[in-house]
Amino acid sequence: MSDLIVHHHLHRQRDFSERTFGPYSRPLRTEGVIDHIERELIEIKGKPNDLEEWVDLIILACEGALSQGHSPEAIAYAWEAKQTKNEGRTWPDWRTVEPGKAIEHDRTAEVLGRSAYP
Ligand SMILES: [Mg+2]
Repeated sequence: MSDLIVHHHLHRQRDFSERTFGPYSRPLRTEGVIDHIERELIEIKGKPNDLEEWVDLIILACEGALSQGHSPEAIAYAWEAKQTKNEGRTWPDWRTVEPGKAIEHDRTAEVLGRSAYP
C-alpha cells in the first residue's frame, strides 16, 4: 500500500496542491483545510452513498497532514501503522453499541498507564 500511495498519489497530490492552492507554508493553510473538511462532512451527511464525497474527505485528510509538513512517505507509513495499531486494539462487541454512534476501543490499559501492546 505504501508504494502505491506514495508514488502514484501523494506526491502527485502535493505537487498539484502547491501549484494550485499555494505553498503549504502559507499562513492559515491548515485552517483552510479544516474548514473544507467541515463543509465536506455536511455534504457526506446529505449524500452518504456518494463515493466522491468520501474521496473528497480522504484527499482533504492528506492535505491537512501535508500542510503540517508531513511527507508523503510519512503519511503512508503512519496510515499503515495506524491500521495495524487498530487491529491490535480491543474492541467491544459491535452488537452492544448503539447504532449510529462511534465504536470506541477499550481504553482500560491506557487509563491504567500501561501500553495497549504486550
Ligand atoms: Mg464534496
